[in-house]
Amino acid sequence: MAKRPYTVIRGGKLLDIAKRAATPADILIKGDTIAEVGRPGLAAPAGAVVIDAKNRLMHAGLINAHTHGPGNLGKGMGDLWSLELLLTASPWLNGGRTLEDKYLSSLIGAAEMVMKGCTAAYDLAAEFPLPSVEGLSAMAKAYEEVGMRAVLAPMVADITFFDAIPGLMDRLSPALQKEVESFRYAPWKATTKQMRKALQKWRFDKVVLAVAPTIPHHCSDDFLIACRDLAREYEVGIHSHVAESKVQVVAGYGRYGTSLAAHMDALGLVSERFTVAHGVWLDDEDMKRLGDRGASVAHNPGSNMRLGNGLADMRGMLNRQINVGIGTDGANCSDNQNMYEAMRLASFSSKVQGPDWPRWITTEEALRAATEGGARALGLHKEIGRIAPGYKADIVFLDLHHVNWIPTNDPVNALVHTEDGTAVHSVMVGGRMVVESHKLLTVDLAALAAKVEASRARREKVTMPAKKLYGRLEKVVGTFCPGLAKAPLHIHRFGASHHAH
Ligand SMILES: [Zn+2]
Repeated sequence: MAKRPYTVIRGGKLLDIAKRAATPADILIKGDTIAEVGRPGLAAPAGAVVIDAKNRLMHAGLINAHTHGPGNLGKGMGDLWSLELLLTASPWLNGGRTLEDKYLSSLIGAAEMVMKGCTAAYDLAAEFPLPSVEGLSAMAKAYEEVGMRAVLAPMVADITFFDAIPGLMDRLSPALQKEVESFRYAPWKATTKQMRKALQKWRFDKVVLAVAPTIPHHCSDDFLIACRDLAREYEVGIHSHVAESKVQVVAGYGRYGTSLAAHMDALGLVSERFTVAHGVWLDDEDMKRLGDRGASVAHNPGSNMRLGNGLADMRGMLNRQINVGIGTDGANCSDNQNMYEAMRLASFSSKVQGPDWPRWITTEEALRAATEGGARALGLHKEIGRIAPGYKADIVFLDLHHVNWIPTNDPVNALVHTEDGTAVHSVMVGGRMVVESHKLLTVDLAALAAKVEASRARREKVTMPAKKLYGRLEKVVGTFCPGLAKAPLHIHRFGASHHAH
């Protein structure tokens, strides 16, 4: 790279979102940054590396605005899971993990994302009972090895799920109450200290840190304020699951007497640095509040359906000037990391919400959310999300001879509604090819599969007691929480009206 700092991509077609066109264009790259985008035959310095992009459509790398690296080892482990049941299953899904497992889990997700055209992600990574510099570094190493960008936010809490949902603990038998003691997190001061240590010592280049109080009412106010101050001090993002499920919103009103978003705003967490994950049950006022503060929502339509949380109102968010990014969520509730599918679902899930078609999300809006919107949520909007001079050379090359692109009518519609990742031919991140001819260049997938299988077999045994405990808890959580979700509320986001009150 140092000897031949220039790369020129010739012969490809560049996606022009506004014009809905695939236009012949050459791209000159200096180091990791786009220097010039021009007509075919663009002048390039002598010795520039030439990349032939004939029969390729080039689009900006997709940006996953919400995922969980640790979720990848839990891919496909469950089916009928509400969010509350998934949280209950956490010790089973995430237990028994070594430092190597943490690394492997992130590696699987990063590999899948780049192979499916995604070049950056906002990753909320949990370690129990508190984050560690070693754990976060192992996860960051996975992203660096794959060669993609990430904002890595240790996901933290100081109140257990059972304490956070009003009335739930009382429903557990004394024996189960004792069992769920093992769910307890470290005290918030210890957790904050670890986050600070990580922020101080961070040495990674393409992976930066952020702060993620996981769910507002799973954190004490003192802890939320500490998270806010840490994010301000180190000028990093804050990301939180706000109003993901109706149960959360009902719990929030019970605890604060206000909406969750209003409570976080009152504590000063809502700003341009703030990203709400999901936001399915945000109401008009919440949306206005977030929009006025310049905040973002990471919209995860696949996960929202998969966990039965309902259909988020992306049109409402855009109308109130919220920056919207699109995410896959973790592989234990999505169950893949395919941003093409996430875009498609963002479009489709808007179109089932009613007959008022001008409110539906257009393919252009879905694509912009999955690129420029995600970039802004990650705080990287000056660097990624577009193919233009000054931006990092994060470029996806789709094979226009793949059956997905025969014929190529409107390339924006095709990218969002037709493409499923199978036409991804090559992927460049920061001027470096990470995927070429459909092959991941940076990680040996066969070797990864062997390591992960050994890990899976070991953890299956180690987590057997946690799986059994889940079975006992499912009976209580699985009846109590749907009951709470039937409480009257002024908004309705479920897909069918018979749950409305
Ligand atoms: Zn999440």
